[in-house]
Amino acid sequence: MEQKFPEAFAEFTEVCKTLENHYRDMQDMEFTVEHGKLFMLQTRNGKRTAQAALQIACDLVDEGMRTPEEAVAMIDPRNLDTLLHPQFDAKALKASEPMGKGLGASPGAACGKVVFTADDAVAWNDKGEKVVLVRLETSPEDITGMKAAQGILTVRGGMTSHAAVVARGMGTCCVSGCGDINMDEENKRFTLAGKEFHEGDYISIDGSTGNIYDGIIPTVDATIAGTFGRIMGWADEFRTLKVRTNADTPADAKKARELGAEGIGLCRTEHMFFEEDRIAAFREMICSDTVEEREAALDKILPYQQNDFEALYEALEGCPVTIRFLDPPLHEFVPTEEEDIKKLADAQGKSVEDIKAIIASLHEFNPMMGHRGLRLAVTYPEIAKMQTKAVIRAAINVQKAHADWTVAPEIMIPLSCDTKELKYVKDMVVATADAEIAAAGIEMKYEVGTMIEIPRAALTADEIAKEAEFFCFGTNDLTQMTYGFSRDDAGKFLDAYYDAKIFENDPFAKLDQTGVGQLMKMAVANGKATRPELHCGICGEHGGDPSSVEFCHEIGLDYVSCSPFRVPIARLAAAQAAINSK
Ligand code: PEP
Ligand code: MG
Repeated sequence: MEQKFPEAFAEFTEVCKTLENHYRDMQDMEFTVEHGKLFMLQTRNGKRTAQAALQIACDLVDEGMRTPEEAVAMIDPRNLDTLLHPQFDAKALKASEPMGKGLGASPGAACGKVVFTADDAVAWNDKGEKVVLVRLETSPEDITGMKAAQGILTVRGGMTSHAAVVARGMGTCCVSGCGDINMDEENKRFTLAGKEFHEGDYISIDGSTGNIYDGIIPTVDATIAGTFGRIMGWADEFRTLKVRTNADTPADAKKARELGAEGIGLCRTEHMFFEEDRIAAFREMICSDTVEEREAALDKILPYQQNDFEALYEALEGCPVTIRFLDPPLHEFVPTEEEDIKKLADAQGKSVEDIKAIIASLHEFNPMMGHRGLRLAVTYPEIAKMQTKAVIRAAINVQKAHADWTVAPEIMIPLSCDTKELKYVKDMVVATADAEIAAAGIEMKYEVGTMIEIPRAALTADEIAKEAEFFCFGTNDLTQMTYGFSRDDAGKFLDAYYDAKIFENDPFAKLDQTGVGQLMKMAVANGKATRPELHCGICGEHGGDPSSVEFCHEIGLDYVSCSPFRVPIARLAAAQAAINSK
């Protein structure tokens, strides 16, 4: 253009500068040159990839056109996800047609061989193969396979199903709830879009869009440029809301710290029970007949838990760590395979029939509303006592090793609904913790708080705060219990709600500010009226969703806690909330 129409070109470059200076943003301009004369047709702020958005924002600051505050406000936090996970090669993706669709439950792209069990995932992975684990739904027993897999695909389950939550925590791509899959787990095959897939066949899945593809689509790794760190640094200057992470392992905790987490807001201790060497002792505990037997089994688990907690405290280097006590119903831990049932029977000196009878007795019609959370501590106080010892002993050891850190345990009791119920468990925890601290001859502060996950707890927050030193909103359960929708099954009918325009969003992904949020707002206000120093956070999946983070800022929470890979999103969203509210 410069050679053919030098005058028009000179004018065009001037106009570009004028427009960019005027709009103070990168422009997408349309123009034409007729008989050597320049005509501008249109200008608008240019669309941009996530990577480009960061670069443009930094350039605008360097050119003096924008302040860092404005640069932070320009970035859409939701787009940061794509910078942190592998993506499909753009060209190959364009040439592919999805064969099915589920929920985009954990972002990133994965391509690998189909496997149907956690053991097969590990076995193929050990041979250097990439795999996609395909299950009806996952359970805590699948953890090793989920870790080994590049991607996870489930037939059932919503945005807060086990597969979705665990995959997001690991940063592994996951598509959940693809009801079009016809699954035959027993014979290791499934049918989708008229094609039958067997172990070893290639599929590709996109955890952002939920698309499922037949065959191989190559992936490219994420690259984080220096601009990412600059924007995050500015965001941290503006935000007042702290950002913690949901992490159960030192590896997850370290990853989250690299991504800017300032502590652990939720360590789900049950995930620690599934490692090979602990699950046996845990099952013995479940199948015990007497308190003494149960205590003996718990004594075997105690050193493992203590080691796990020590590693977490080490990884966090004195930053806060909230450890939540056992939450899921016990049936989730019992063996399902005949061979494992036999092993357990032998270890317990019981018959296979006895063990099967115990397993059957744990069956509940509504386990999510059943014998779980602090109800387990009320019925089996020895579990809470063991966990208290493990937390406090770990904290004492790490404190002794690092005099310059302040290790102050935060023990979180899940699923309370009544202040007396909480007091019952808290008193036991406090007595156990105080005895451990006194025996160690050390000064140590600790707090006992609760999760607010049941509407009654929110409604009686003034009473609950008499016992709880902190509140953490478990909005996965609080959403489930407020709507009366099962978090595992709601995916089956929510599509109809979107089609009928009853709902715009999945309430398990984006906080329902009108209903659930109302309960939270009230609980914070009433809780603080009883106990002004009460600190409040959120650790449900909403803690990593930008609009929900903004709401949490508005109602005066102290922190949000989310899975490691969502920490940068939460940091940016928290900064934008602070900037917007000014
Ligand atoms: C919650 O309910 O929001 C929560 C964080 O606990 P979980 O998902 O483990 O039930
Ligand atoms: Mg919960």
